[in-house]
Amino acid sequence: MNGVVSVQVLKFGGTSVGSGERIRRVATIVATTRRDVEETFPVVVVSAMSGITDQLLRIARLTCVGDEEAMIHEMQTLRQKHFDAIEQAIEDETRRITVRSEIETALTGLTQDIATLRETVQAGQDVMLPTAAVASWGERLSVLLVAATLNDLGVQAAPVRKEVIITSHPQHDASQPFGTVVGAEPQAEATRANAHELIFPLVEREIVPIAAGFIGRTVTGFVTTLGRNGSDYSATVIGAALDCSEVSIYTDVDGVLTADPRLVANARLLPGLSYAEAARLSWFGAKVLHPRTLIPIAPRNIPVRVRNTFRPHIRGTVVGPETLVPSGATAITTHRHLALITVESTDLFGAPENAGHVFALAARAGAAPVAICSSSGHHLAFVVEEQSAESVVELLQNDMDSNEWRVRCRRGLAACACIGSGFTVDPMSPARAITALARERIPVVTQGASELGITLIVEDQDSERALRCLHRDLIAPVIPLVRHAHTLREKRREAR
Ligand code: ADP
Ligand code: ASP
Ligand code: MG
Repeated sequence: MNGVVSVQVLKFGGTSVGSGERIRRVATIVATTRRDVEETFPVVVVSAMSGITDQLLRIARLTCVGDEEAMIHEMQTLRQKHFDAIEQAIEDETRRITVRSEIETALTGLTQDIATLRETVQAGQDVMLPTAAVASWGERLSVLLVAATLNDLGVQAAPVRKEVIITSHPQHDASQPFGTVVGAEPQAEATRANAHELIFPLVEREIVPIAAGFIGRTVTGFVTTLGRNGSDYSATVIGAALDCSEVSIYTDVDGVLTADPRLVANARLLPGLSYAEAARLSWFGAKVLHPRTLIPIAPRNIPVRVRNTFRPHIRGTVVGPETLVPSGATAITTHRHLALITVESTDLFGAPENAGHVFALAARAGAAPVAICSSSGHHLAFVVEEQSAESVVELLQNDMDSNEWRVRCRRGLAACACIGSGFTVDPMSPARAITALARERIPVVTQGASELGITLIVEDQDSERALRCLHRDLIAPVIPLVRHAHTLREKRREAR
């Protein structure tokens, strides 16, 4: 058991390993960290190349419906993408030959898992576990490419071929169609023992371990996943198991920004964020961190740094323990495709104790409320993912006496969350948020607030516009381009 070597986890997302040229870039970052005497020893966690998990799930779906021809076509393009990456990432021809053969062996493993899935469907059995096995191959393939590229750069590295994370058996979910994965729960103690056994012998020999993100294994040996986009989470599960000094999440943006830069052009980089702020941001839809990422490490005060693979000189965002300075509005995010469920007592003095029962029923339908918006003795309103609204409403209507309770559902909504510790320290903050939407004539369906921010529920179709105007009024005013052009013109005139 390791008791001495301190390690840090470097996790690279799908876009970061999306091509051979990018994998070479990733390997250069790892090599620089490895050679820096001030840095702790790196343990690398990688995602599948971008688009590959989607493709594997398409392959699973095509296998389930028996479309062999389309499935084979998908397999060919998947194989080609990895072979192209070898040519771009690795220079040494002997090493290329070795990796090609490793990839071929891996693809044979994938073909066997596809055959198992086909037999399971034909036998009319549950496809949940064989689908996870097929989905796991994206990460299994990318560890081979990243390790070989590091070797090509002269750094000793080895792929970790076994699953590092030990999970519970995933919960069967009959509502999930073919070609989706159900996330399983990591088991901290079993993962710790397994991670030590797989990782530290390599570290002690100064070999950089390259582990697969996203995937795990049950104690009984079934391959599982942590759910879609779960590789951030897997990096912190592994980091906590190894008592690492820091986890770096390398992605395609400079860090956590004040809003999604794809939607808000002048979103700014946030140098620091508390665990609570980051957790709330990801809960309300900021894709940059998976919502469960901070769970394994926040209680142990291990920092997470979000950084840009394509601009590694930028320090990124450090997510860590609470800062003492309340920040007001820090970031804005939207969570789309929600439905508002309202449970109302026909008796104006109805019983508030029914709230527990309502949420227990929602949980039974597999729907944790995304936000609880309002409640009073006889009225309760909360939003859930649109896709689970129907089953929640059905359960509530079946279980609660319709003479006493009216259940209503409104679809097509989104939550806009303004986040910042100490949001309500400035009494104007909530007012500014509501006024920002009112000025744009965006109706607020309902809302919820706390000292960590305000959540405004709007029509889904208004959500992007709402995000932009909240960002403009609460965080960063847009400097009108016209004025800028005007000043430039004036300056030129003065210069003449
Ligand atoms: P990876 O493949 O590295 O896991 P993701 O696509 O899952 O990357 O996450 C990065 C993306 O998250 C960015 O490209 C960006 O569009 C999006 N994003 C959403 N909200 C934010 C935010 N507040 N700050 C930074 N990025 C954000
Ligand atoms: N490859 C997995 C997915 O696409 C996990 C991840 O990249 O986060 O869902
Ligand atoms: Mg991601």
